[in-house]
Amino acid sequence: MLQVQENVDIKDYCTIHIGGQFRYFAIIKTKEEITEAIEFARKNNTRLFMLGGGSNIVFTDKVLDVLALKIEIEGFEIIENTDDYAVIKVGAGENWDIFVSRTVVSNLSGLEALSAIPGTVGATPVQNVGAYGQEVKDTIVSIEVFDIQNKVIKTLTNTECKFAYRDSIFKHEDKNKYIILTVTFKLSKKNPEIPHYIDVKKYFIQNNINTPTLLEIRNAIIHIRGYKLPDPKVIFNVGSFFKNPIVSSDVAKKLKNNNPELTIYPIDEDHTKVPAGWLIEKAGLKGKNFGPLSLYNKNALVLVNNGNATYEDIISVRDQIIKTVFDKFGITLEQEPEIIK
Ligand SMILES: Cc1cc2nc3c(=O)[nH]c(=O)nc-3n(C[C@H](O)[C@H](O)[C@H](O)COP(=O)(O)OP(=O)(O)OC[C@H]3O[C@@H](n4cnc5c(N)ncnc54)[C@H](O)[C@@H]3O)c2cc1C
Repeated sequence: MLQVQENVDIKDYCTIHIGGQFRYFAIIKTKEEITEAIEFARKNNTRLFMLGGGSNIVFTDKVLDVLALKIEIEGFEIIENTDDYAVIKVGAGENWDIFVSRTVVSNLSGLEALSAIPGTVGATPVQNVGAYGQEVKDTIVSIEVFDIQNKVIKTLTNTECKFAYRDSIFKHEDKNKYIILTVTFKLSKKNPEIPHYIDVKKYFIQNNINTPTLLEIRNAIIHIRGYKLPDPKVIFNVGSFFKNPIVSSDVAKKLKNNNPELTIYPIDEDHTKVPAGWLIEKAGLKGKNFGPLSLYNKNALVLVNNGNATYEDIISVRDQIIKTVFDKFGITLEQEPEIIK
């Protein structure tokens, strides 16, 4: 049965540790509790807000008039198992990295480069999580969702989710329309590919590994991330605060000509991805202390709450960073985490 709490501190439910209170809060473990939650929200004239691990959200300091649903739906079911691949359906509330580790030890490839990303399975399609050249969209077959308005369960295909770089329908046209219940993945039994990233290649050269196993790739990613990404339990953050901007290939070429050390990532003939961390570092901001917040000294992309930062502080610092980078390069950075106010 649904247990609703009132005036719950948001700080305890988001990894950057900023925020006021949820007016209402409940943990969801079953589909039946969702129906009760919809009814509760209707009666109390409030709206639902879906929460996973809170590792990609920045909240306002006010009381949010929502019923926050912390999705803890469990499940791990092998739907199909062939010589070449396996299809697995996973509950939205499962811990992402525990699931990834389970696929790696089962010799299933497709998610190993997404090791050590905080949060839940159900949140990964929302921003199409990605790292080291892998994106979750490349393994998702379908997503089972609860349609809040029509109170029915639907299955969305991969194509219907309109995945793009850190993007999907769940951030736009279908925002707040669905509760993700399960995600079905198709994972390969073929030999894994080494991520085409300098840091990963360097790691294997240094460790004398020519043809790494899935587990060795996962360990490499965990090792590299451990240096570049602070543990949010110790240092409050939401990972990369900015997306890597996609600029015209002409702009990227000019930048590369002036800075031969820069690695750029062509997307198609006309568009190229430029590392936001490099732009911020070159603008002289890496490690900069803004008072309540600072940019991490080992990774310019990570904005750290030094302890008592407020929502106003984070917005002000974000805008200062965007302006400084724009003034230097004429490129506008876009924030990655969602803002809820
Ligand atoms: C140290 C660190 C490193 C990170 N590294 C990466 C990285 O390499 N790549 C990357 O892409 N991201 C990264 N992130 C961001 C974040 O971990 C991911 O986006 C993650 O998938 C968010 O999961 P979550 O459960 O915490 O989602 P939350 O932050 O709780 O929610 C994110 C969004 O998903 C929605 N949502 C959550 N669950 C559901 C559901 N069941 N149904 C409907 N909507 C839902 C929320 O409403 C919100 O809009 C990092 C974050 C940190 C702190």
